[in-house]
Formats: sequence, C-alpha cells, structure tokens
Amino acid sequence: MIEGLRASVAGREILTGVDLEVSAGEVHAVMGPNGSGKSTLAHVIAGRRGYEVTGGSVRLDTTELLGLPAWRRAEAGLFLAMQYPTEVPGVSLLDMLTESVCTPEGAAVADRMREEAARIGFDEKFLERPVNVDLSGGERKRNEALQLGVLAPAFAVVDELDSGLDVDALRFVGSRIEDATTHDGLGVLAITHSSRVFDHLQPDAVHVFAGGRIQESGGSELADELEADGYERWTAALPQMAADRGDAPFTDPFGDPFADLLN
Ligand code: ADP
Ligand code: MG
Repeated sequence: MIEGLRASVAGREILTGVDLEVSAGEVHAVMGPNGSGKSTLAHVIAGRRGYEVTGGSVRLDTTELLGLPAWRRAEAGLFLAMQYPTEVPGVSLLDMLTESVCTPEGAAVADRMREEAARIGFDEKFLERPVNVDLSGGERKRNEALQLGVLAPAFAVVDELDSGLDVDALRFVGSRIEDATTHDGLGVLAITHSSRVFDHLQPDAVHVFAGGRIQESGGSELADELEADGYERWTAALPQMAADRGDAPFTDPFGDPFADLLN
C-alpha cells in the first residue's frame, strides 16, 4: 500500500505523489515512458540509499517500510527484481541465498535452488558462479526469478522483467511469477514499458505512470491503448504540470534517444 509517496534525487523531485494499493495475489502493472521515475519508485520502495523521501508511506500489511534499512524490508517480505541486476564478484548465488534464507539446513536451500532452476530452464552451473558476473542480460533476469522462487516473498517489485529476455525465457520467468501469485498469494508491482510480459504475467490492473506519479488506472485495455498510441496523451500534459509546480524545464541527459521508437 503506497500513499502520497514523494521522493527526490540529487535535489530534484522524481516521485511526485504516488498512490497505489496492491492486494495479495494481485499483479499491478505500472507502465510509463523512459525517465518517468519507475525505477526510482522501485528503489525507494526497496530502500536503496541516495533517495530523499519527502513524504508519504509504503506499507506491507501493517509494517511501515520507509525508514527501515533494505534488509529489514526484505525480512518483512519484500523482494525487488532489479532492472539491471548487480554483479557480486566472489559470492555465489548459493552462498547468497543460503545466507538470506537463514536456516541451518543449507543443503535444503541448494535443493530448492535446483528445483527452481529446473522450473525456469536455468542451467545449474550458474548456482555456483559469482552472482551475475559475466552473465547475459537474460541470464541475470532468470537469476532474479530464481531468487524470488526460493525466497518466496509476500510482495515483489519487478522492474522491466522483459528487458533482455528472449521469448522462451520470458515465458518461463513470467509464468513462474504468475504461479507464485496464484499459489502463494504473491502480490506484484510489475514495472514495464511494453505489454509483452502480460502474455504470461496477467495484470489485474494497469497504471499509467508519467511525471513521477500514476496518471490513470484501468484494465488491460489501457495497456492495449499504450501499445497502439504510446504515452503521448499523458506526456503532452507534463510540461504544463511542471510549470504549474514551478519546476525548471528539464531534459534527461541519460534519456534513451530511441525511446519514441520503442514505446
Ligand atoms: P524510469 O525507470 O522510468 O526510466 P528512472 O526512475 O530511472 O526512470 O529515472 C527518473 C529520472 O530520475 C531520470 O530523469 C533520471 O535521470 C533521474 N535519476 C534517477 N536516479 C538518479 C540519480 N541517482 N541521480 C540523478 N538523477 C537520477
Ligand atoms: Mg527504469
């Protein structure tokens, strides 16, 4: 449950008041153009350092997450599948998950990992390798899905799951997460800018995210509209909204020059 969430980075407000409620077992898609603040939302929910939260609340059941360090949020049942999974040289996935699960039965974790690897068509050799080091984009995403499967969180924020995944990998990973929503009551906030992933992970609601907040909510027909027409209808209104707030005009120096072609 997210209420009135506002956050700044490097002195600029990126999240401008996000409200969103996701119940157990539901998948909510957040779709928006490049640079709209989707990954910032994911990072602020997960507790990544470097963001200044200036207002609002993020609760998992009754636990207020804002203010807790990232590991406490994970302990409360939160999981983040990152858009760009980080390399962790010197630490194998097996070591990492054995530590995370915190049970004395390390062997059980290894068995669970092998089960999960088989479910998503992931080669077991990756379990012993350092986390994400020298892995392709698609392998990293499978790695995230495997962690999700083993850790069995209550709520997962999944940032651009489809980026880097080919059709087969997307089917495996998408269905694995869909399964967790149906059988384990996993709640999902699925951030994406294309509806490709919805073939496997079906959203209960679709939210258009632009200018650091949710601008409109609907069902899958909204995703179809975005696919057909792009984000123009929402982004066109943003300069005026920014001007109304008194913001200086801004151009994203890291913006994707091909964003218009992709969206
Ligand atoms: P999205 O995931 O929707 O493409 P992001 O949340 O990654 O967008 O970025 C939103 C905006 O915030 C962009 O303009 C980006 O350049 C800026 N931004 C994100 N993180 C940082 C940071 N650590 N320092 C400065 N600017 C940032
Ligand atoms: Mg992003």
